[in-house]
Amino acid sequence: MPDLFIDGSWRASGDGGTRDVIDPFTGQAFTAVDEATADDAAAAVAAARRAFDDGAWPSTPVDDRSKILRRTAELLERDKEEIAHTETLDTGKTLAESRIDVDDVAAVFRYYADEVLVDVDRTVDVGRDDVVSRVVHAPVGVCSLIAPWNYPLLQIAWKVAPALGAGCTTVLKPSEVTPLSTVHLVRLLAEAGVPDGVVNLVLGGGPTVGPALTEHDDVDLVSFTGGLATGQRILRAGAESVKRVTVELGGKNPHVVFADADLATAVDLVLTGAFLHSGQVCSAGTRLIVEESIADELVAGVVERARRIRLGSGLDPSSESGPLVSAAHREKVEGYVALGLAEGARLLTGGKRPAAEHLQTGFFYEPTVFDGCDRSMRIVQEETFGPILTVERFRTEAEAVALANDTAYGLAGGVQTADVARGERVAAALRHGTVWINDFGPYVPQAEWGGWGRSGNGRELGPEGLAEYRQSKHVWRNAAPKPADWFTG
Ligand code: NAD
Repeated sequence: MPDLFIDGSWRASGDGGTRDVIDPFTGQAFTAVDEATADDAAAAVAAARRAFDDGAWPSTPVDDRSKILRRTAELLERDKEEIAHTETLDTGKTLAESRIDVDDVAAVFRYYADEVLVDVDRTVDVGRDDVVSRVVHAPVGVCSLIAPWNYPLLQIAWKVAPALGAGCTTVLKPSEVTPLSTVHLVRLLAEAGVPDGVVNLVLGGGPTVGPALTEHDDVDLVSFTGGLATGQRILRAGAESVKRVTVELGGKNPHVVFADADLATAVDLVLTGAFLHSGQVCSAGTRLIVEESIADELVAGVVERARRIRLGSGLDPSSESGPLVSAAHREKVEGYVALGLAEGARLLTGGKRPAAEHLQTGFFYEPTVFDGCDRSMRIVQEETFGPILTVERFRTEAEAVALANDTAYGLAGGVQTADVARGERVAAALRHGTVWINDFGPYVPQAEWGGWGRSGNGRELGPEGLAEYRQSKHVWRNAAPKPADWFTG
């Protein structure tokens, strides 16, 4: 079956082009998908435009749209094992992580199935008996939804579930590196009853399909998750036609540990925060900021456990972490390690590809810890998006907050302390979109996710994640019309 979905039918590429999909564990192609041309992308946008302007979806009763979201959640659960397996082959992440992703995605569809039913329209008291003033909400229109490779299914779901719930029509573009779970999701959306043209799917490289999705007048909204440089390009691309553009970008996330935190728990949370999914997590806690009095002990604990992380195939249940997503990405990570050494950081562990025989085909990299770091270093300021933890030390709470806020990003941060009041003080002072106190990593569909600073300008999940896809309209009805009598002539 072809892989592009345009106006309700599955199609091959206009020029017959395909792209290999690489298994990061074997380094080999295990399948290929159709690769859209710029014309295919334009056809997908045109189909979404027709479905919005002439189709029934925007005015379909919200109850019916809600039912389709709920049905999609059920279908995701039905196909959970198959989708999780695909996601692991495509991304390299462990099957356990992929299964959690599918569960989370089903939960997001269920959450928005409920949330779209909440009436957000309101009447306004304008102080006049003869006037009814209402603020109502309409879907924004045609939405281009562009996702990255680290959480392919999850990131596209955070966009498409609220967009459909709001009554928008969509063009989905997963990363060219990890397209497969999105193809499966689109099949399920069609099976759940989404009408033709409401969901369209284009696969392919950003430079080829990007202009049709981000510049064209027929697109009303672009929701993008990915790297900072691409996000800046997409913001500029949308400027000419004054689109609504929301971007969810990278992070350089601080993890602050005070001396009164439970040491074993803090070691474990620092380890998970930095090395889950080989650090290929936008909210990874890659900047350890630790109180000086416990720093040596904490860092020794992290290093000792980092060395014991079991790397392997995501399909092997004994693996705790898979490979990096691609050869090119591993080279980028290696470049940052070389940079860290050149900047004078002290390598405590990792800093190389693993030697084990069974890890030679995949794009593996050892969990890496750099001590002796400071904020002047690029490895402390830039997102490496790999298994690299940097260590900085502090003496006072004020110093910890200043370090944690000294980043152009602002996606997420964590603070470990036994002092509840201090945890709350630090959380209030951090300029980041999510703050975890005595934890690191959890999120829920009900709570907004998004960046401050250069981590982005939009919100996903929660009521605000739905509001992105709606626009308000003020309707003023005068029940007793009479002349304005402004002009007297
Ligand atoms: P990327 O910016 O390279 O690509 C993201 C998507 O944009 C891909 O689908 C790509 O094909 C597409 N793209 C590239 N150029 C384009 C163009 N000119 N026009 C339109 N689309 C274009 O990012 P990536 O390497 O896939 O993902 C990693 C990045 O994503 C990291 O920086 C990570 O922090 C970020 N991320 C952020 C969040 C968040 O919630 N803030 C979540 C996950 C990942």
